[in-house]
Amino acid sequence: MIETEELEFAPRIVSAQNTEEDADVEVTLRPQSLSEYIGQDKVKENLAVYIEAAKRRNEPLDHVLLYGPPGLGKTTLSGIIAHELGVNLRVTTGPAIEKPGDLVSLLTSLSDNDVLFIDEIHRLSRAVEEILYPALEDRVIDIIIGKGPSARSIRMDLKPFTLIGATTRAGQLSSPLRDRFGVIQRLELYNCEQLTDIIRRSSMILGIPCTPDGATELAGRARGTPRIANRLLKRVRDFADVMGNGEITKEIATIALGRLEIDKLGLDNLDRRLLEMIIKGYGGGPVGLETLAAALGEEAVTLEDVCEPYLMQLGFLGRTPRGRCATKLAYEHLGIPLISGEDGQLTL
Ligand code: ADP
Repeated sequence: MIETEELEFAPRIVSAQNTEEDADVEVTLRPQSLSEYIGQDKVKENLAVYIEAAKRRNEPLDHVLLYGPPGLGKTTLSGIIAHELGVNLRVTTGPAIEKPGDLVSLLTSLSDNDVLFIDEIHRLSRAVEEILYPALEDRVIDIIIGKGPSARSIRMDLKPFTLIGATTRAGQLSSPLRDRFGVIQRLELYNCEQLTDIIRRSSMILGIPCTPDGATELAGRARGTPRIANRLLKRVRDFADVMGNGEITKEIATIALGRLEIDKLGLDNLDRRLLEMIIKGYGGGPVGLETLAAALGEEAVTLEDVCEPYLMQLGFLGRTPRGRCATKLAYEHLGIPLISGEDGQLTL
């Protein structure tokens, strides 16, 4: 009983969210240049041109918005951009900038052409966002001094700078803010080959022996996400040390991931419970996200940000205006037979 409870509250291995444990290793594993950054070819090609043009003109790069699911390399890319431009990088997050004054002190501390990276930019407060508009457009900030009738506004010039905003939810960005980004790039989930390359690179850096087969086995279960790929590598290393001679082979990876209850496609318990709830609890759907979250005892945002992007990419989950539906492929993957309707039609 206790064991089950502990398991339920343990962080998900296949969650793309950053954990403290990841943070130490991520610094070592972050690629430093565009050429080291694996995949996302279109984004890289475009950025390479913009970076080169900005350098030639000795101007700051246009403001960049990167969006896509967590763990795909948005923070990494912002570090690379600053590195390639040869400027400093300041890193912060939307929720950390509580007051307009916090943003003002950040902006005024930047040197010429520096990069300011704001993660989770959709979580900036309205008051902070309003400081950002003139800063992005005209490189100025308006500061109100004093209160009441004697209050006056002072305009301050800023040094040229580039804002890189990252978000998992581009749709939640206000349109005045979105319109102020000259470069908007979407990061895609990685394919198995690219993830295999990422795992092989990480295993070399961390000194974890891993056969090509072993790397492919991990890659296939990493949900298209480098952060998860790196985490699986670290988890499976423990099994390789204890069960074998320390090398991650296909066999060791298969056994370890089986023990961790991560299936062939990278689905874990929560993904399977989600699909099973739609199928067994709601006849395959459609069922609303909030209803599903309550039935599973999970936050709706966890289901939406962590489970759904990957389940949709696999073609296991459909989103309709009336709610979520499980697809035929989901039934097949879970081994649940589809029920035929009276007209012989399959019920999805
Ligand atoms: P995000 O900011 O999108 O949540 P991060 O930039 O923090 O993601 O990336 C998570 C980890 O994944 C990084 O530590 C990095 O090692 C790895 N990573 C991400 N993208 C790549 C890539 N294209 N090539 C190699 N490693 C990557």
